[in-house]
Amino acid sequence: HPMNIDDAGHKHGLDTAQYRNSARSADIILADYLQRWLDAGYQVLVTADHGMNNDRSHNGLLPEEREVPLFVIGDAFSLNVDAAPRQTDLCGTVCELLGIPHDKPICRELLN
Ligand SMILES: [Zn+2]
Repeated sequence: HPMNIDDAGHKHGLDTAQYRNSARSADIILADYLQRWLDAGYQVLVTADHGMNNDRSHNGLLPEEREVPLFVIGDAFSLNVDAAPRQTDLCGTVCELLGIPHDKPICRELLN
């Protein structure tokens, strides 16, 4: 099976065919499932816990290490372009979606 995105980044670095193709593979897999998940009433959130740079470093302060995509798909999300969720808001925001009691920060603007 295809190498996952994280492994590809760690083994090959940011600006490589392996990293890009790994992301493409994940995109193809998501495309196969996404509509079914939405039809079944799921809320879908796609993100990453870190990025990567060309030196295969991923725990520093550079934008390519720290700034990751966030896709939110589903009717619980506001799609408010002014929402500015932080990585540290996501745990609490997912708990809100799942109705799980928590004491974490959330990004209220991300949700309806
Ligand atoms: Zn990693």
